[in-house]
Amino acid sequence: MSLIVQKFGGSSVSDADGIKRVARRIMDTRAQGHDVVVVVSAMGDTTDDLLDLAGQLTDDAPAREMDMLLSSGERISMALLAMAIDAAGGKAVSFTGSQAGMVTDAVHGKARIIEVSPDRVRKAIERQHVAIVAGFQGMSKDSHNITTMGRGGSDTTAVALAAALDADVCEIYTDVDGVYTADPRIVSSAQKIDKISSEEMLEMAASGAKVLHLRCVEYARRFGVPLHVRSSFSTNEGTWVLPSPDDKIKIQEGEPLEQPIISGVAHDRSEAKVTVVGVPDIPGKAAEIFGVIAGANSNIDMIVQNVSTAGRGKTDISFTLPIVEGKDALAALHEAQERIGFEGVEYNEKIGKLSLIGAGMRSNPGVSFRFFEALSAAGVNVDMISTSEIRISIVTDADKLDTAVKAVHTAFNLDSDDAATVYGGTGR
Ligand code: ADP
Ligand code: ASP
Ligand code: MG
Repeated sequence: MSLIVQKFGGSSVSDADGIKRVARRIMDTRAQGHDVVVVVSAMGDTTDDLLDLAGQLTDDAPAREMDMLLSSGERISMALLAMAIDAAGGKAVSFTGSQAGMVTDAVHGKARIIEVSPDRVRKAIERQHVAIVAGFQGMSKDSHNITTMGRGGSDTTAVALAAALDADVCEIYTDVDGVYTADPRIVSSAQKIDKISSEEMLEMAASGAKVLHLRCVEYARRFGVPLHVRSSFSTNEGTWVLPSPDDKIKIQEGEPLEQPIISGVAHDRSEAKVTVVGVPDIPGKAAEIFGVIAGANSNIDMIVQNVSTAGRGKTDISFTLPIVEGKDALAALHEAQERIGFEGVEYNEKIGKLSLIGAGMRSNPGVSFRFFEALSAAGVNVDMISTSEIRISIVTDADKLDTAVKAVHTAFNLDSDDAATVYGGTGR
């Protein structure tokens, strides 16, 4: 008998039928003799709808109230799922994040987990109940306010509970059959990956493959939690994310010993590009600019410095950051403009980032050539470039992103003959 943590995303519980289907799936797992702890997300696009609603009232909502609002989505689905299990003859009890012992810091909207004390969840398991926990939320240790952990955060709730309860596996149920070589909504010939190292999965998630929340992959790696990403709409085997690079992949007979060079292509539309124009080309100016950005609590991704269009002795510094942080960063830059002495700031949200990821590329010199050749043949203009040992990323125009993803996917022979199935969701 083992303990399984099962997380169901919003598209898996988007309506009453979906909730019934998930309830049956949980009961089937119980019937096989396992203890089950469930983490649920808000139904369908509830979180986006709540955000839209708040946006109709104010564009500067108090962060505490925003978290109170958004955390309610998961409370709806946890209670409904418990009712569905009860109606089907099972025993279930639902808990909010704070009842389940998810203790976080006080940073609303992107709270980090400090401690997990799932005593009530343990007691529910002892009483042979299915414990259902609302994802994406916790309670601040200091302020005792309700916090949320950032979009997609229910994955992280699930892994944190799996680690605290020493579960045998954490299953992430979603609307596709696993992690693919590209988003199957864009590349229908994408292939399902059977096993992926946590190192590569980290890069995929960090590069925008939202099938797993980045922090969930980090957490699973740190605590050695095996992750199985699969669909709640099928019983197909999904993708295993291997907890640590030391965790040896069990190679079946006849399987090639070397992993493929490339694991996949990820894309991201959630970033904007900021260009600080006409920065005096003297030591210390970049530090001043990034000091201002750090003060605004923005997470910078790519950075490029160019000779300025503003003339001699000047440079332009461009960087990308999450669109949601753009407003604060721009305000902070404008305030510091006179002191730092740059000429202006440009801001563009219509960009897209594409990343090619694979642990094999560090020992394969032809990868960059093939990558840029594919982009050029597809008529994609490259605006910014950054690399790591196992990733090449570029920024291009948002409306060229899909073309670019398809071209790179094909150039690295990742296309499969079968079309990937997308079972549900709106991709929002
Ligand atoms: P959930 O509501 O279950 O948390 P998400 O919408 O957060 O689901 O994540 C699943 C979606 O992630 C898929 O429907 C797919 O469009 C998208 N996705 C992006 N990149 C990938 C990838 N490489 N493999 C699989 N899905 C991906
Ligand atoms: N409901 C939250 C969101 O839409 C959390 C999650 O689904 O993981 O971001
Ligand atoms: Mg998700």
